[in-house]
Amino acid sequence: MVDKQIKKRGVVDPRVLAAMAAVPRHRFVPKMLTKQAYADHPLPIPASQTISQPYMVALMAEAAEISPSDRVLEVGTGSGYGAAVLSELAADVVTVERHQKLADAAREMLDELGYDNVTVLNADGSLGYLARAPYAAVVVTASSETIPDPLVEQLADGGRLLIPLGSLGEVQHLTRLRRTGDQSTTESLGWVRFVPLIEDR
Ligand code: SAH
Repeated sequence: MVDKQIKKRGVVDPRVLAAMAAVPRHRFVPKMLTKQAYADHPLPIPASQTISQPYMVALMAEAAEISPSDRVLEVGTGSGYGAAVLSELAADVVTVERHQKLADAAREMLDELGYDNVTVLNADGSLGYLARAPYAAVVVTASSETIPDPLVEQLADGGRLLIPLGSLGEVQHLTRLRRTGDQSTTESLGWVRFVPLIEDR
């Protein structure tokens, strides 16, 4: 998976490649899909959601430029797979999921596998999680038309935010926002397709 799907498409960060090799993806997919766990595409998980394609997880992790001392916020825990990859790269990870069943299942699997630097919360992640802010990186794994303000406000000076931006039902631009003081710049990293971010407000 790492050589054929990830390195080949240009992900080079050795820490990201090591994290992708380390996390047992088959533990995060539904049992009946175990055989497809390392295939080059997303897979369905409960609540009509998806576990992202391995390459997409690696691309976002690399683009987030995570250092070992960083605190990272993930919005959209889903299966917990992305959180496990981030936890290999960062000091600690806060991940937020709006579906209680997914949050509970992800927490259980992350605990079982010993990812003890991850906190899984069941809430609307578009509000971020102020109690643990600021975050050196914010990784949003669901698509939105705009970047939710709280996520930018909770980003550390120098922090990076990754989010698929675009209209419902269309492909999105994977966008990286970089915060410098009260200023921010954004750039597009290419086309992607994610399930929508649902704001519960
Ligand atoms: N990172 C995941 C991919 C999950 S797909 C993985 O590795 O498996 C995106 C997830 O975002 C879905 O589980 C969906 O329920 C969740 N989501 C959508 N809107 C949300 C919101 N406002 N807050 C938290 N989670 C949200």
